[in-house]
Amino acid sequence: MKSAFSMGCIMSILLAMACSRPPKQAPMEYVKTELAKLAPVTLECDLSGLTEADRTVLEHLVEAAAVIDELFLLQVDPGNPELRAGLAPGPHRELFDIMFGPWNRLEADVPFIGDRIKPDGAGYYPPDMSREEFNRVIASQPQLEEIFTSNFTVIRRSGSELIAVPYHEAYSSLVGELHAHLLRAAAACEEPTLKNFLELRASALLNDDYFDSDMAWMDLEGDLEVVIGPYEVYEDALFGYKAAYEAFICVVDRAESEKLADVANYLNDMEANLPIPDRYKNFNRGSSSPIKVVQEFVSAGDTKAGIQTTAFNLPNDERVREAKGSKKVMLKNVARAKFEKCWIPIVNELLAGQPLANVSFDAYFNHVLMHEMSHGLGPGTLRTAEGEVTTVNKALKELYSVIEECKADVLGIYNLKFLIEKGVLPAALRSSMYASYLGGMFRSIRFGIDEAHGGGVAIQFNTYMESGAFFMNEDGKLDFDGQKLEAAISELARRLLLIQAQGDYQAAREFVDKYRVLTPVMSQCMKRLEEVPIDIRPSYPELP
Ligand code: ZN
Repeated sequence: MKSAFSMGCIMSILLAMACSRPPKQAPMEYVKTELAKLAPVTLECDLSGLTEADRTVLEHLVEAAAVIDELFLLQVDPGNPELRAGLAPGPHRELFDIMFGPWNRLEADVPFIGDRIKPDGAGYYPPDMSREEFNRVIASQPQLEEIFTSNFTVIRRSGSELIAVPYHEAYSSLVGELHAHLLRAAAACEEPTLKNFLELRASALLNDDYFDSDMAWMDLEGDLEVVIGPYEVYEDALFGYKAAYEAFICVVDRAESEKLADVANYLNDMEANLPIPDRYKNFNRGSSSPIKVVQEFVSAGDTKAGIQTTAFNLPNDERVREAKGSKKVMLKNVARAKFEKCWIPIVNELLAGQPLANVSFDAYFNHVLMHEMSHGLGPGTLRTAEGEVTTVNKALKELYSVIEECKADVLGIYNLKFLIEKGVLPAALRSSMYASYLGGMFRSIRFGIDEAHGGGVAIQFNTYMESGAFFMNEDGKLDFDGQKLEAAISELARRLLLIQAQGDYQAAREFVDKYRVLTPVMSQCMKRLEEVPIDIRPSYPELP
C-alpha cells in the first residue's frame, strides 16, 4: 500500500460499523490534488450531419449508457450504491464518481473513503474467496470450469458452496432496463446494420451469449458507432475472467475515415519502401484490422473510470476475430481534448522556440493513425536458422511488445513523410510532424518506461539523443536537427525491422537493455512536468 491513511485500526472499523457512522475520509487536500490531475473538459461532438432518426437513436442510447454506469458500479463493488448514497456533494463524491468507487485508480487503488483494501477480484467474487478455493472447486468438479471461468458470470456463496451466477440473473433488473432501452433505440433506427446489431445485442443481454451481436457489430455502417455490453476483463485483477460493462456511443468522422481509406491503398507501397532488404518484406499480411475514426458522444461504465480511452480494438471473442477480424476505433475528440489539456502544457515546458511554434494537433493525430497502420507492416512470420516456421511474437518473447510498439512509432513517422511525398497527406504537415513527434514523447514516458509504449518511446528518445538528432540547448529546452533526424529514423527503423525479421532475441535483449533506460536528461524533463494534468475528466454536452 502506498498511503498513510490506508490501514486504520480494527477497533475504529468495528466502532464505525456498530454506530453506522460515515466512513473515514481522506483529507480534503489529498482529494483536491487527485482531482487536479484530471483536467475538466467538455467533449465537443458534431451532430449536424445526423438524421432525425439517428438523433432519436442517440437519445435512447444515452439512457442505456446511464444503466451501464449503474451496472459497472455494482461490478466494482456491490456496496458502492449504498456508500455513494451516504456521501454529501463535494470533492469526495466527485472523485468517487470518477473512480466508480472509493479506490483511487490513479494511485494503485488506495482507498480515499473508508479504509477497506480493494479486493483483487473487485465485486465479481466473494471478497473472502481465495484463488486456491476457486481452483479447488474447479479441480474437484471439472463440469463447473466453463461456467466458473466464463466472462459473463459472477461467483457468489450459497451456504458453504461457491456458485456461478450469470450476469443476466445477478443483475436482472438493470439488465432488463438496458434491454428495453436498446429495443427502443432499434425501433427508431433506420440504418439496417445498426438496427440488426441493437436487436441482437438486446437479446444477448438476456442470455449472455454475445457471439451473433459481436459478428453484427463488425458490419456496422452509417453515422453511429455503438459499443455496449460487457467487454474488457482488466477490472478482474484476480483471474482476468470477468467482463466489465461499458459503452461508447459515437458519431463517425466521415472526413477522417475517407483519408484512412486513401492511406490503405498505399499499404503495399509502404511495405516496399521499408529500409530493409526485399527478402525481409512482407506483402501478404492483408488488412485484417480496419480502422474507423469517430467522435465520442457519451461513454459509460468501465471505460469512463479513471484514465480515458482514446482507441479500442474489439471484439475480444477469438471466434469473431477468426471469422471477421477485429475493428480498431479511434476517438478523435478525446485525443484532441488530451492534446489541449495534457500535451500542450508538456511541450510548453520542454520544447525550444522553433519546434514549439510548429506543433499541431493534425500532425499529432496523423502520427497516431500511422502508428496503428504501421502495426500491419513488416515481418510477421519467419523461418529460424533451423528452418522452423515461427512468428516474430514467439521469437522475441517478452521483448516483443516493446519492440513492436517502438517499431509502430518509428514507422509511423517514417510513413508520414512517405505519404506527404506521395501527395496523399498535405505538405503542411512536413514542418509540424517532427516537432510534434518530439513533443509527444514525454506524455508516454510519464506513464512509465516499464510499460511497452513508454519503453518504446524511451528507446527512440535515447537513440536520437545519441546520434545528435535530438539535443538539449543551453536553456535546457529540447530541439532537433531535421536532417540528422530523418537519417536516425531510417536507421532505427532498419535496426528494429531486422531484429524482427531475423527473430533475433539476443539482439533484441541487448538493444532494449541499452536504450530502454531513464537517462538524466529524461529525469530532468520529467521533474518539470509534475504540475501538468495526467489526463482529462470529460463532461458530455446535452443532446440539442
Ligand atoms: Zn501500438
